[in-house]
Amino acid sequence: MNTVCDVLVAGAGVSGVAAAVASARSGARTFLVEKENFPGGVGYSGLLQNICGLYLNGDEFPSETLNGGIVREIVSRLNHLSPEKKITKTGQVYVLPYKREDLQTVFTSLCNDEPDLTVLYNASAVSVRNKNGLITGVEVSHMGELRNMTLGVLIDCSGSGIVSEMAGAHFELSPPEKIQMAGFIMRLKGLKDVDESLAIKVPYYLAEAVKRNILPGHLKFTMFSPGDSPDEGYCKISINGVMEEGREQKVRDDSTALLRYLSGKLPAFKDSYIAGTSLRVMDREGRRIRGEYVLTEDDIINAGKFDDGVVKNSWPIEIWDKRKGTIYKYVRSGDYYEIPFRCLKAEGISNLLVAGRCISVTHEALGSTRVMGTCISLGEQAGTAAAFKAKNGKYPLE
Ligand SMILES: Cc1cc2nc3c(=O)[nH]c(=O)nc-3n(C[C@H](O)[C@H](O)[C@H](O)COP(=O)(O)OP(=O)(O)OC[C@H]3O[C@@H](n4cnc5c(N)ncnc54)[C@H](O)[C@@H]3O)c2cc1C
Repeated sequence: MNTVCDVLVAGAGVSGVAAAVASARSGARTFLVEKENFPGGVGYSGLLQNICGLYLNGDEFPSETLNGGIVREIVSRLNHLSPEKKITKTGQVYVLPYKREDLQTVFTSLCNDEPDLTVLYNASAVSVRNKNGLITGVEVSHMGELRNMTLGVLIDCSGSGIVSEMAGAHFELSPPEKIQMAGFIMRLKGLKDVDESLAIKVPYYLAEAVKRNILPGHLKFTMFSPGDSPDEGYCKISINGVMEEGREQKVRDDSTALLRYLSGKLPAFKDSYIAGTSLRVMDREGRRIRGEYVLTEDDIINAGKFDDGVVKNSWPIEIWDKRKGTIYKYVRSGDYYEIPFRCLKAEGISNLLVAGRCISVTHEALGSTRVMGTCISLGEQAGTAAAFKAKNGKYPLE
């Protein structure tokens, strides 16, 4: 089957949905292809609890998101569905707690509202044709059938940057010793008397178990947070960020061992059980597609602004280091940095944009840009620019 469109977005995570909706709203015939059967990516399947990167940091409690547009609309719709989920200060920054079911409802309705947008689930981009720096088509495997998609602009919102690699784009990948730890979250039920003190007790007891060689070393970085009901909580487990055989099984075995240990040590865990887990191990780092500019740690810490700055972010650099645990480096209080549009333009391929986790940044800068609030705004900017190029033959400001 052959399909022609102006803009093709690969991946319906938080960045991809925003990209596709923005593109369709700008009048481009847009296709969004997603290999799973749901929208939201890690934001839905990861069992995360908070959207980060939405607000300015500092002492003043935020009343609005730092970026306007689709992200503000999403926050407003989430708020309408679960008004009890309010902006919360954690340390020096603010987050928005959310329900993943709400995120799916909002994303589905945003897509359904756009007549120029077609969403294909169970549809994977499997190969990309690049002729002298111009993408001429993408092959999509959709429910056992191959579709040839001819397009004006391709936006890679795959998170891992795999689609850009298929297109022959240049990319950076951190070496194994530097790559950030990946994560896996389990939702626990049957807990008793859950309170904030467990956030301190759980890592303390696990560190003891690791010291005594009862549990593997990486489990000392496990974090606990309470859930929505008094018998619910979440354990965020960190695991090697290098994709290696057996990692999925290992993290599941570790989860069981960890819960068995805590059940014997902490009365709150005595009757607890695993009620759900992330769909799979979630990588914090993948391919960082090389763009026309590479955003750095200095740009972030010094609150850099750019002539082509399209997204504002105040979220700190958050590195999940496998030796030291989490390391934070903050943007100065009450300020933000900008992400230039050049970080979204794949170097050497005129009609390939990237958005979300795989944009053009250094290993350190990714520690800040990868959060969901920022990824949504990056997606929106990519979608709007792609629709502009499909219509005018060039990106805005070119
Ligand atoms: C352990 C962990 C905890 C985190 N906690 C938080 C948090 O608390 N708050 C926060 O704001 N952020 C958090 N993040 C970061 C954030 O969730 C992600 O970086 C962000 O959601 C990435 O969005 P994305 O759209 O770029 O990619 P993804 O969410 O990864 O979406 C990519 C989508 O593309 C699809 N896809 C991939 N390849 C193809 C293909 N070939 N064809 C079609 N579709 C394809 C995938 O199925 C997926 O749906 C966390 C990340 C991790 C790893």
